[in-house]
Amino acid sequence: MQRVRQRQPQDFDRVLSSMCTKPHPRAHEAAVEFLATNPGDPATYQTVADLEADAIDQLGDIAGLDTAFGYIASGGTEANIQAVHAARNLADGTDTAGSGMPNIVAPTSVHFSVTKAAEMLGVELRTVPVDDDYRADLDAVSAAVDDETQLVIGVAGSTEYGRVDPIPAMTELAHDADANMHVDASWGGFILPFTDYEWSFADAPIDSMAIDPHKFGQAPVPAGGLLARERETVDALAVDTPYLETTSQATLTGTRSGAGVAGAVAAMDELWPAGYRQQYRDQQANADFLAEEFADRGIDVAEPTLPLVTASLSPATFEALRDEEWRIARTADGDLRIVCMPHVRRASLEAFLADLDRVRA
Ligand code: PLP
Repeated sequence: MQRVRQRQPQDFDRVLSSMCTKPHPRAHEAAVEFLATNPGDPATYQTVADLEADAIDQLGDIAGLDTAFGYIASGGTEANIQAVHAARNLADGTDTAGSGMPNIVAPTSVHFSVTKAAEMLGVELRTVPVDDDYRADLDAVSAAVDDETQLVIGVAGSTEYGRVDPIPAMTELAHDADANMHVDASWGGFILPFTDYEWSFADAPIDSMAIDPHKFGQAPVPAGGLLARERETVDALAVDTPYLETTSQATLTGTRSGAGVAGAVAAMDELWPAGYRQQYRDQQANADFLAEEFADRGIDVAEPTLPLVTASLSPATFEALRDEEWRIARTADGDLRIVCMPHVRRASLEAFLADLDRVRA
């Protein structure tokens, strides 16, 4: 304990590029209470198993689904891997026209968890270019999809630029090819209900979705969400569980933390929908403020269509700001990327801008 006591976990005031945040205080309490429970063994830990069913129902509401199937995963990575896994297993049971390697199609903006999924599951990942606004190029998706395509993935709130792909049109392309459609709303899922974007189960007949309570949902880590429209998607993941009282398990991990499940339910109870709406408005205002401040300083900035700002900074300026202990990161193209997560305060952004001015002077 000594070594833990000597350290502070993290000063969130300087964390500007993370996609995680401080949990809501009620979520924190719930997580502590359920720390020793394991929803992976629902016959033993029934209360947390019931809470998990509540969490899936509520995530379904948020994502526009009347009846939702799925589970609380460790995060967006697991949810994306399992979406690919389910699509592969479902397609294995059908006759595909060709005899080539199965493939999945996604824009280059897709999260790297999909690369892991493809590698583990033995499917080819076909990445297609994005347009000038960093959204999946529909012609490129159409050209990449073929008889061996099992899944098309669109991103609703991309990791680097916070963009939303044309989900309804991508879904049509996927279904025309008898492939499933998965939407990665791991980051955007708790923001998008308050915008005009078409991204949800209600806007398009999408098959599965990743939506993470531990990102904009203010739940503690680990709390991701895998949602499916049909029970068969989750059933396609299930394996027999001989030594447990329940007969099968669809999750990738075995033992899971009940902290994430209870924390997710507590956060959603507190915040859905009014709290999340306010949080989106506050953080979009912060993102717009920051983008304007960058532009006023002659720095190239991409319009923040969601609460995520990217701007072009020289490597020397970026490093100088890192030396000032700002927890910032860059896109693959080298753009500074600031994610206005719920913990980000206007005062922190002002302090960051003051440091920026000082190191650039
Ligand atoms: N998908 C998107 C769009 C993300 O931004 C991230 C992480 O930031 C992930 C998936 C992976 O989520 P996790 O790190 O919780 O597994």
